[in-house]
Amino acid sequence: MVKNNLNKEDLELLKNKEEAKRKLEEFEQMGEAHFSSSHNTPLRNDAFDLSDSEKITEISKHFYKIMEIMGLDMNDDSLKGTPHRVAKMYITEIFSGLDPKNSPEMRAFENKYHYNEMLVEKNITFHSTCEHHFVPIYGSAHVAYIPNGKVVGLSKLNRMVQYCAKRPQVQERLNVQIIEELKKALNTNDIAVLLEADHMCVASRGVQDVNSNTITAQYSGKFQEEATKAEFLKHVYHK
Ligand SMILES: [Zn+2]
Repeated sequence: MVKNNLNKEDLELLKNKEEAKRKLEEFEQMGEAHFSSSHNTPLRNDAFDLSDSEKITEISKHFYKIMEIMGLDMNDDSLKGTPHRVAKMYITEIFSGLDPKNSPEMRAFENKYHYNEMLVEKNITFHSTCEHHFVPIYGSAHVAYIPNGKVVGLSKLNRMVQYCAKRPQVQERLNVQIIEELKKALNTNDIAVLLEADHMCVASRGVQDVNSNTITAQYSGKFQEEATKAEFLKHVYHK
């Protein structure tokens, strides 16, 4: 029989390690489940206390540190500028949708043609970022609404999709955020949003499935009626 050489402290340490491992697994599963409790991106109250340029300076420093810890030679000409480039890209491009000051102006105007059937804007390209792994999510959005006296310029629908996408996201929440923003802008509940997306966290790591994509759809108002929903889906999938 193997003699157990572990004393009480060692055992305690091992137990803690087991517990830590279990906790970590729980967190990882939470990441995989893509679960979120509110349609608002979780932001702190002080989220905009720093200016954009202060944020870029701070993120650069920390990104420099990450690269340095990984052992990269930060004196290399090709790597030198990366921390600043990443920081600037985060604030002014891929996460610019966190800041309400960047929301597109959705000026609605009178629907003078009295067009009152559904309007479908399909294949809107969007690029987002998985908030669990910070790698890209990208795909197409298909948006429809039934005008309620007011209409917006078509490109505004694209802009709103892209604004909501430029945040750390989960696809389900992105879907809901787009629909909620459009409800406000268009002053109607009759809206449908369908997203088809590829998740790099699924394709390039984890299960490494490059062929799967994820579809979410949210319908509100008249789009919850079967016939209206069916008409929308016919437009989306009609080649
Ligand atoms: Zn992910």
